[in-house]
Amino acid sequence: MRRPGPSRPPAMPSCRRSVVAVTAALLLGAPADAGAQAPASPDDPASASPVDLTVLTGGDLLAHQPVWDAAKRAGGGRRYAFDALLRPIAAIVRAADVAVCHAETPLVPGAPRGYPSFRTPVGLALSVERTGYDVCSTASNHSLDAGGRGVSTTLRAFRGTSVVPTGTSSSARDQRRIPMVRTASGVRVAVLAYTEMTNGIGLPHRWSVNLARAGRIISDARRAHAAGADAVVVTLHWGEEYRTAPTRAQRSLAARLQRSKDITAIVGQHAHVPQPIRFSGRVPVVYGAGNLLSNQTAACCHPASQGGYLARLRLRATPRPAGASGEARFTVRATRVEYVPTFVSRPGFRVVPALRSSASGARASARRTIRIVGRSARVRPVPR
Ligand SMILES: [Zn+2]
Repeated sequence: MRRPGPSRPPAMPSCRRSVVAVTAALLLGAPADAGAQAPASPDDPASASPVDLTVLTGGDLLAHQPVWDAAKRAGGGRRYAFDALLRPIAAIVRAADVAVCHAETPLVPGAPRGYPSFRTPVGLALSVERTGYDVCSTASNHSLDAGGRGVSTTLRAFRGTSVVPTGTSSSARDQRRIPMVRTASGVRVAVLAYTEMTNGIGLPHRWSVNLARAGRIISDARRAHAAGADAVVVTLHWGEEYRTAPTRAQRSLAARLQRSKDITAIVGQHAHVPQPIRFSGRVPVVYGAGNLLSNQTAACCHPASQGGYLARLRLRATPRPAGASGEARFTVRATRVEYVPTFVSRPGFRVVPALRSSASGARASARRTIRIVGRSARVRPVPR
């Protein structure tokens, strides 16, 4: 649940509630700024108790033809209703304070295309909004499959919804914005996204896609804090496909980022198979959440590619005295990570929570995912 902030801080926060409120006000003929009311600061931050919040992330949204065909069937042939395929996980997504998806491929109008140069129906953006997502990472090795135009059409598709895209940009100014969501308790969560690679395709502009370089990520996280973020979640498209163990490059980038006091959590995708979740000190690293929605199975790819997980980061925000702006601020730490194993059931391509699913292969997939991801005092699998 989210509520609008009292005013727009310098770096463009966004939240679904404020968008909805402004739209409703316009429809009713009320003043257009009616959505920008309701101060969100606790009355006395210095004496307020810590608040707990959750940030949910997951694996790749990867639309091959059988997936977009299923979405079109679900949409009665009129639209690509990916939301129908994601419906079994929608309650989990909506329950999170901030839900982050990952669009691996560009959203481009016209005929869809699959591997190797993807064009995904723009209806995916509306579908993830309907599923309950707030933010979607668009930085991946496929971001440039449709060139600079694909970057633009993807951003346009998301900006026609309440879902905030992060990781690709349409201008230098756009790239400087900090994608941020404000939760119901007033905690601001920035979500920064990067990719290790773009499949050898050169960037049309230096701002088109955020590349995963430690120094740049650390300075962006510092900037996010300066712009008002209380927590900074870094999402990385990294690693090696079909490899469940993190690569040396993943481990060394994670180690550098974990030393930054401005980074709250690191989450990842790309491998198309689940990778472990590890805490090192105060910062959790969700190395890779596998596939959320894809056509991949043991028949084409890795046996673990039909499954993935939703990672629920549990964060504790401790209020501290208001800063110069007079707004409440918080010190935020991750306390633990829960994960929900997911599975793409076929032939309908519905994404189900796998631990208690009766779909063929779901529970075996969940057990495999748990073996890979692991469990510890601060990391545990949950059915939903
Ligand atoms: Zn990828």
